[in-house]
Amino acid sequence: MQFDIKKIRLSLKNPWTISRNSSSYKDNVFVKLEKDGITGYGEAAPNIRYGENPDLTMSKIEDAVSSLEAVDFLHYTDVDRLLNQSISGQSCAKAALDIALMDWIGKSAGLPLYQLFGLNPDRIPGTSFSIGIDTKENVIRKVKNALDFPVLKIKVGYDGDEEMVTWVRSITDKPIRVDANEGWKSKETALEKILWLQSQGVELIEQPLPYQMINETAWLRERISIPVIADEAVKKASDIAGLIGAYDGINIKLMKSGGIQEALRMIHVAKTLNLKIMVGCMIESSVAISAAAHIAAHADWVDLDGNLLIKNDPFTGIGIEKGKLMLSENPGLGVRPTL
Ligand code: MG
Repeated sequence: MQFDIKKIRLSLKNPWTISRNSSSYKDNVFVKLEKDGITGYGEAAPNIRYGENPDLTMSKIEDAVSSLEAVDFLHYTDVDRLLNQSISGQSCAKAALDIALMDWIGKSAGLPLYQLFGLNPDRIPGTSFSIGIDTKENVIRKVKNALDFPVLKIKVGYDGDEEMVTWVRSITDKPIRVDANEGWKSKETALEKILWLQSQGVELIEQPLPYQMINETAWLRERISIPVIADEAVKKASDIAGLIGAYDGINIKLMKSGGIQEALRMIHVAKTLNLKIMVGCMIESSVAISAAAHIAAHADWVDLDGNLLIKNDPFTGIGIEKGKLMLSENPGLGVRPTL
């Protein structure tokens, strides 16, 4: 087995600001696994919200790789079990290895992953396009540039968020989804904001309150009419049952779940519990976005626009047409490096 790992600085087309923080670049970690003449690519997008950083992620991946030497990759659930033991925390590190492994599996089988999973790519819902917190001028420019997208996702959860929605509404009446990223600190504030947002044609609210405020979120949900989606409150399948009554659905991201295999388990648990499914992302290149898109036919909503925010995507292989993700028919993830 050959293994290569590197950190690549992804430059953003626009500085990215949400209720927590702001940045103009993102350092992601890229993995290349080679075995039996087949190469698998993976990616980690470390997120400070979950205590992750690129150097720690790299060292976790390096430590875990040696445990894979003796495993038959075709028994990929064994690899999943091993990685769960060898990587604690830093779920994005596990995601990078799981994505590379599943890319390898698809190539080994000669099938794109969606086919391996029995999924119809025509069922993937169109993705929303995210508008970060910005000046009026920039927000209006970004909304105009996003004309092709059927739905916008607006970041709220800060003083002045109503203004932001008003600016968007001044130029488009398309559906809006909003994400507060735990930004409202009391249930009363959140209620007041959401009642107003409902009047503005907002179709769902993501993570209105801090993740631990489950009872307050349940209180809020009884008083509003739009679905409440958990993001920061849910990382893995074992988190889902605790959300019943407080949320209508969950936002599944490969970087939180630790890859495709756990994301599929989350999908099955959520469906069993009658929760809706959003498949979302961090700021990621075409590697991790493609990986998520391969399972996105399971989703009710898709928010996979991370690669569109980057100027220097080091991979190619996924397209977009009028907001709909177009997966390659090549085996595995269907991506290849551009460098
Ligand atoms: Mg979110």
